[in-house]
Amino acid sequence: MEKLEQLYEGKAKKVYKTSDPELYIVDYKDDATAFNGLKKGTISGKGSINNRVTNHLMKLLEKSGIPTHFVKELSERETLVKKVTIVPLEVIVRNIAAGSLAKRLGIEEGVRMKSTVIEYCYKDDALGDPMINEYHILAMEFATKDELDKIADYSLRINKILTDYLADLGIELVDFKLEFGKTTDGTIVLADEISPDTCRFWDSATGKKLDKDRFRRDLGDVESAYQEIMKRLMGE
Ligand code: ADP
Ligand code: UDP
Repeated sequence: MEKLEQLYEGKAKKVYKTSDPELYIVDYKDDATAFNGLKKGTISGKGSINNRVTNHLMKLLEKSGIPTHFVKELSERETLVKKVTIVPLEVIVRNIAAGSLAKRLGIEEGVRMKSTVIEYCYKDDALGDPMINEYHILAMEFATKDELDKIADYSLRINKILTDYLADLGIELVDFKLEFGKTTDGTIVLADEISPDTCRFWDSATGKKLDKDRFRRDLGDVESAYQEIMKRLMGE
C-alpha cells in the first residue's frame, strides 16, 4: 500500500490517502511542540518510537476487545489505519494529579486521586483546545449520547488495560489523551496515537518522568526517556 495525496500535516504526524478509500497512512515526525505550538523542537527518533509504541499498545487493546483504527505497520514511521471522521474531542484520563489538573485545582503533582477522572477538551487549535463537559458535547453535537457513553466506557477500559500492563513493566500511567473516530459504517474506534507524547509515564521505582514533560519542562534526557519506554514495552 502506497501513500497518495497528503491530506493533512499536523504537529506530529502527516496523513495520506491510499488507493483504498477506506484506508489512510499516517507518517510520524520527529517534530515536537508544546503549549499549543508556542514551544517547538525536534526529538531525534521520536517518530519511529511513537509509531511503534502506538501500534504495540493498539494491538494489545484490540486483543482486549477495544476496536481501534490500526490495520498494519508499514515501516518504522508509517502505519496503515482505517479512515475515520475524528470526533473533535481530546479525551483525557487521569489517575494521578499532574499538569493542568494539578494547576487548576491547586494540588501537588503526584497525588493519587480517589477515582479516575475523565475530562473532555474541544479539539480546536485556534481556541487552544478548551475544556468542555458532556452538556457542551451534546448541545454542540460533537457526539451523540450513545457515542459519548461508548467513548467514556472505552476510555475507562483502556485505562484499566494500560495501567495493569504498564505496572508490570515498572511504569506508572499518570494520565493520557485519547482520540476516537467514526468509521464509514458509524463504528466508534480508538484513533490517533498512544505514546510518550500523549501519556504521562513515571518510573514506578524512581518517579522519573519518561514522557514529553521532559521536553515541555526542559528536563533533559528527552531522547533516552522515549527510548526507555520503547525498551520496556518492546524489549529493544
Ligand atoms: P495535530 O492535528 O494535533 O497537530 P497530529 O500531528 O498528530 O496532530 O496530526 C494527526 C491528525 O490526524 C490529527 O488531527 C488526528 O486527529 C488525525 N487522525 C488520527 N487518526 C486518524 C484516522 N484514523 N483517520 C483520520 N484522521 C486521523
Ligand atoms: N495531552 C495531549 N495533547 C494535548 C493535551 C494533553 O496528548 O493537546 C496529554 C498530556 O500529554 C497528558 C494529558 O493529556 O498526558 C493531560 O495533559 P494536561 O491537561 O495536564 O496538559 P498539559 O500539562 O500538557 O498542559
